[in-house]
Amino acid sequence: MNKNQNKQRKLSVVVPFYNEEASLVLLYSKLIDNIELVMKEKYISDYEILFVNDGSTDFSEEKIIKIVKQDNRVVLLNMRRNFGKSRALQIAFEYAQGDIVITMDADLQDDPCEIKRFIEKIDEGYDLVSGWKVNRHDPLVKTLPSKIFNFITSKFSGIRLHDFNCGFKAYRKEVVKNIHVYGEFHRYIPILAARNGFKIAEIAVKHHERKYGVSKFGGERYLRGLFDAFSVLFLLKFYYRPMYFFGKIGLLLFGLGFVICSYLSFIWFLGESIGHRPLLILGVLFILVGLQSISFGLLANIIIDKQDQNEAVCVKSVVGGKDDL
Ligand code: UDP
Ligand code: MG
Repeated sequence: MNKNQNKQRKLSVVVPFYNEEASLVLLYSKLIDNIELVMKEKYISDYEILFVNDGSTDFSEEKIIKIVKQDNRVVLLNMRRNFGKSRALQIAFEYAQGDIVITMDADLQDDPCEIKRFIEKIDEGYDLVSGWKVNRHDPLVKTLPSKIFNFITSKFSGIRLHDFNCGFKAYRKEVVKNIHVYGEFHRYIPILAARNGFKIAEIAVKHHERKYGVSKFGGERYLRGLFDAFSVLFLLKFYYRPMYFFGKIGLLLFGLGFVICSYLSFIWFLGESIGHRPLLILGVLFILVGLQSISFGLLANIIIDKQDQNEAVCVKSVVGGKDDL
């Protein structure tokens, strides 16, 4: 028997949705069936389902309000407008009260029957468990760019996942309370979590064709995704040591400028006039920009240093003292 069974712990299921009126009611009933099953097997003792309405313009809101009126474990978080999936998830992460938080899409492409397996994997000691749509039922225009995206992201981040963008994930509470998702960053949550030292795993999940409604993400998402990839990889590498980035560039430019100006000084000593040479401007420019970049790096380091670090993220466990049972 799993040592986490019988524990008093709460599950939060988070479902961001944008114009998904066709699938919400069925999703709710499937969710209830599967969560009840998980409760029967004593993995959890209580739960909440958070539906985040990301500015829907169809009848999605009315459908959920009907459910909320009958079931007090269901909460509807209404956004003022369509802010995007990342923001919707972030709002729910702040609101969620569960010890384990599961996120899934609203279109029934993710199968609620996988919830139990997610919890089992979390109980193996992982902080974040990411779904992997092994047999993905989406058109090639989506699956192919997605494969390339996953390959590149995995190579650059060093995190060995096949499916970063899968909406079906499970988290320990500590993870959702300590990451900040915005823009299109929901694709990079495992990277943001890994940056804080959280342990990550992946499980293969069932994936269904989209039978209800239409996909909300078009081709432009890959371009936006690319820009976000740069930001995330930059954050990952240099967030805590910006001087390594700006310092390197600064030193390189300063060095180049120094060499150029030394050369010009040398020929000036030999009697050549250098005042008219464009190289002089380039050399001085390199030196100035180089110095500027170094001082920018220093400034960034000071800001990071002064920033109040959240200690709770850094501490994995506390041994000894009265809380150590
Ligand atoms: N979604 C959202 N806000 C948006 C776009 C999408 O909350 O601006 C939700 C959407 O309703 C669905 C999930 O995010 O529950 C995944 O979207 P979709 O199924 O369109 O993505 P795909 O499966 O095509 O990658
Ligand atoms: Mg979908």
